[in-house]
Amino acid sequence: MKSFPPYRVQVVKEIPITTRPEREEALSQAGYNMFDLPANKVTIDLLTDSGTGAVSAAQEAGAATADRSYAGSDSWFRFRESLEEITAFPHLFPVHQGRAAERVLFTTALGPGKISLSNTHFDTTRANVELAGAEARDLPCAEAADLDSRDPFKGNIDLGALEQALSGPDGARVGQVLITITNNGLGGQPVSMANLRGVRELCDRFGVRFFLDAARFAENSWLVTQREEGYAGKTPLDVAREAFALADGFVASLKKDAISPMGAAIGVRDTELAKQCEAILIATEGFRTYGGMGAHDLERVAQGLREVLDPHYLRNRAEETAQFARLVNEAGVDIVQPAGVHGLYLNAGRLLPHMPASGFPGHALACELYLEGGIRCAELGSLYLGTFDDDNNLITPAPFELVRLAIPRRTYTSAHLEYVADVLASIAKNPERVPEYRVTYAPQLLRHFNLKLRQVPRG
Ligand SMILES: *Cc1c(COP(=O)(O)O)cnc(C)c1O
Repeated sequence: MKSFPPYRVQVVKEIPITTRPEREEALSQAGYNMFDLPANKVTIDLLTDSGTGAVSAAQEAGAATADRSYAGSDSWFRFRESLEEITAFPHLFPVHQGRAAERVLFTTALGPGKISLSNTHFDTTRANVELAGAEARDLPCAEAADLDSRDPFKGNIDLGALEQALSGPDGARVGQVLITITNNGLGGQPVSMANLRGVRELCDRFGVRFFLDAARFAENSWLVTQREEGYAGKTPLDVAREAFALADGFVASLKKDAISPMGAAIGVRDTELAKQCEAILIATEGFRTYGGMGAHDLERVAQGLREVLDPHYLRNRAEETAQFARLVNEAGVDIVQPAGVHGLYLNAGRLLPHMPASGFPGHALACELYLEGGIRCAELGSLYLGTFDDDNNLITPAPFELVRLAIPRRTYTSAHLEYVADVLASIAKNPERVPEYRVTYAPQLLRHFNLKLRQVPRG
């Protein structure tokens, strides 16, 4: 039986409809940088699934009656109760968003000379490891390097490489192992419970702390119930609890799987570490019972965390993404297999084989999606991960030229996604018409947010 969303639409927001000349003008004005495009010129916004989910009536009811007391507000207690129910962590802190959680935890748990090992560090996570004076190393499993492989858990860390790193000459410098669930940096692929248990065992053996970056803990839990042996009969809540029980702590952006516009959390077991986190939190984020979050968002999180683990919701969201993936494949576009839940990662390098990496195929496809259909999305290829010389020429390309179509939660219907697949199909009919791009300005720090480019006219 086909699944359906366990909710109906009660409040809607109009989306902008534009003409091709308007889009050409807007994108050129933005220096061909998607982050500089005004949202009122975007029809379908697949730039991110962060803070873009539709809130429920129950979330808004909570927000309307939120308690803004500075210390010990009712909203804080509801927030904590919801998080405790899933994570069972003794020390929980609210923070305004995920990167603040990273900064607070890493400035205590890491430090100069330390190393953070991960399946893949998310971009702000890597930046915060480095800002803490430490080094971030990714150890993804071998299957992740094959975009077409349908291995069910391509988000896993390579346990052999992890053991080697922990037992090798740099082992004593490892300050933490951080596992991102799901692995957003590598195709939104899930991590298996067996892999998490393997990490736990190695961390115990070598006396290293094991943290989760749990932004998409619910979607990872769902995929475990669907793909991992022994988990078919478990609920997503059971799986989430088991995952958190394995870790010494977590950071989680609550803009993803808590379906809140803003918010994040830190959880730790160790009382000393908790005290240190609390001191930094109070000095830089806010008092421990709000930590930079507004009371309305504490309430939206408290309710969102209950809604997100509903198996009907997760099943339908996963099926909608899988259906979208089928349409995209039928349109002649390959994706990172197998399709995850929060987005599709298009293989732009394969769709535009005539285009060298120096023309930025991923970015070129993202621009074409906008010009052709008003669809906004982000490149994950050489523009984002490559290295450049002083004249902004590409020196080292990224291993893959990808484009991420993130799918906001509860926001777009299947008709919207069918439209996106139609636009892709029309681009895929004449891929050689897609023009190349050149970088005209690239700052050192956070390049992809601030780039400027120009289009190379087709000869
Ligand atoms: C979004 C995200 C973060 C950062 O969270 P923000 O709330 O955007 O600051 C960290 N890690 C992962 C895996 C994420 O998806």
